Amino acid sequence: TRSTRPQRLLKAVQKNATRGDPQSVISAIDHFCRHSEWAMNIGDEKGTILDSVVNELNPEKVLELGTYCGYSTVRIARLLPPGARLITLEFNGDYAAIARQVITWAGLEDRVQLVEGASEDWIPRMKEHFGIETFDLVFLDHWKDRYLPDTKLMEDCGLLRKGTVLLADNVICPGVPDYLQYVRNSLSYKSCYFKSHLEYTKAEDGLEKSVFLG
Ligand code: SAM
Ligand code: MG
Repeated sequence: TRSTRPQRLLKAVQKNATRGDPQSVISAIDHFCRHSEWAMNIGDEKGTILDSVVNELNPEKVLELGTYCGYSTVRIARLLPPGARLITLEFNGDYAAIARQVITWAGLEDRVQLVEGASEDWIPRMKEHFGIETFDLVFLDHWKDRYLPDTKLMEDCGLLRKGTVLLADNVICPGVPDYLQYVRNSLSYKSCYFKSHLEYTKAEDGLEKSVFLG
């Protein structure tokens, strides 16, 4: 039977990237997605904005919602200070299996905990299961109808502290109007938009950075 896109993406990494070199993994995936097959990674252009937010915060505890093949996971994890931890959630077992291999190829498996399951099931178990107090940064990039309910769930579970940053991808394309309306109007957030383009295209898309004010 024919291979899947994630399997072909992994093959491109194994063929073109150097083991233990995260930057070469990122470049191999971007090259594959620009020249062979589009895939729903944050991509190089919005990825640069993600990098600058990670560098600005120097976070110890990061949560990523939606791993897919591990592209953004590698982007974030490569910038983390020693001892920091990134927990990433993915409910599709086939994608999670590919992501594990991509993360290991980049040599970042010690900093990344890939959890196979649904965000709505795992967010309430974060504290007891992973001993997490609060996150410094949350990257939202799973299915778009979950951004708002999962944000409220994280608030209710006490996973956000004063200063926690929520960084949300694809706020224009495909768009998350209910989430944007919430973070832009709530007195509990200070929110701003970073204009960019949908991964590997010229269509407008961007990231919304929202600081939780407590
Ligand atoms: N963050 C990745 C990157 O930029 O490289 C891309 C993630 S992709 C856009 C979204 C992923 O979220 C898909 O792999 C999907 O299976 C997963 N997903 C969607 N809803 C989810 C949920 N509620 N819990 C866990 N994973 C979810
Ligand atoms: Mg995205």
